[in-house]
Amino acid sequence: MKILVINCGSSSLKYQLIDSESEAVLAKGLCERIGIDGRLVYQPAGGEKEMVEAAMPTHTEAIRMVLDYLVNEKTGILKSLDEVDAIGHRVLHGGAKLTSSVLIDDAAIAVIDECCDLGPLHNPANLMGIRACMELMPGKPNVAVFDTAFHQTMPPKAYMYGIPYEYYEKYQIRKYGFHGTSHSFVSKEAIKFLGLDKDNSKVIVAHLGNGSSISAVENGKCVDTSMGLTPLEGLVMGTRSGDLDPAVLEYIARKEGKDIFELLTMLNKKSGVMGVSGVSSDFRDLDEASKAGNERATLALDMFSYRVAKYIGSYVAAMNGVDAIAFTAGIGENDAAMREKICSYLGYLGITIDPEANSKRGSNQVISTPDSRVTVAVIPTNEELAIARETVELVK
Ligand code: ADP
Repeated sequence: MKILVINCGSSSLKYQLIDSESEAVLAKGLCERIGIDGRLVYQPAGGEKEMVEAAMPTHTEAIRMVLDYLVNEKTGILKSLDEVDAIGHRVLHGGAKLTSSVLIDDAAIAVIDECCDLGPLHNPANLMGIRACMELMPGKPNVAVFDTAFHQTMPPKAYMYGIPYEYYEKYQIRKYGFHGTSHSFVSKEAIKFLGLDKDNSKVIVAHLGNGSSISAVENGKCVDTSMGLTPLEGLVMGTRSGDLDPAVLEYIARKEGKDIFELLTMLNKKSGVMGVSGVSSDFRDLDEASKAGNERATLALDMFSYRVAKYIGSYVAAMNGVDAIAFTAGIGENDAAMREKICSYLGYLGITIDPEANSKRGSNQVISTPDSRVTVAVIPTNEELAIARETVELVK
């Protein structure tokens, strides 16, 4: 089957056309600056990357342009759109009602719409992508794959907040967790790659990218994760604060006359390693600045690794043990020094890292020594492939 995978943000859209039998990417790219002016990047497998500026007032024009590039005579890799068997959409929030991927129909759209309250930046954009595909490719099955779904197996003791119960009853305020597609893909890959028994395994996945989250996966099921009602909770991230005393908000509000919306923007966009260092949210820039003697960049990197190590420790406690720790995403896959720094806190688990294995890149890799009591691995994530696989499952 040929599956078009769509990941819509508010002004951007990433896409991949995947052949589900070979799992090869036939073409990929992105549309940026939707609603502003518009730019498309298109790359067919083995072909040149093209970049064009074109008006994209809405996601519909952006998707129309992607479809045209897939079939036109010059750049196309399909004879016609009939060859696309289904479309898989990444959707941020499925709330508590959508606990696994679904074939999109009116009822699913209504629930995704209801969840706009919980994912105000993403769910509306995801819906725009879904509606555009339905309009431009009528009759083709569309599947929604939720960032929250994998975490729906968490028990109440993990997902409830210690606030009055009425807020859970009235508004479903609880931990949902995100990056679920990645945590699901990486935990499954780790179990397969490391030869673990799925039904008797304890795996911790550290998805460390621009947004970062950790999950505890026991017997293939998520039992806890670091992000919460929104992606703001948990680790110190690129620009997000992660966990902090909520009273900090009231204090800054009072001192600086800021309202709750300004404060949340500050916590989401101006905090994390960016806010602490004042340098960048990108770990390559932070490494460089730290090596050049920038103390705040060093502090930001120390805070990041310390928080990750503390979460790993808490998830070892949650599962009463751990067989494997898997690092993934931009930092987890590429930043060997950061992996080593995090693992330097984990000696009490009997973890030792092999520096040579830790320096390799690009594929599944065990980075702990053979005598390490817990196996540590790098497992590259592939959310698009995971979405394509889920889509095939639902339409075949
Ligand atoms: P997202 O998908 O959340 O936007 P990614 O998983 O692509 O993010 O991660 C992006 C981040 O990965 C960058 O901001 C950067 O900090 C980090 N990163 C990427 N490559 C490297 C590298 N070679 N060394 C250190 N950090 C890296």
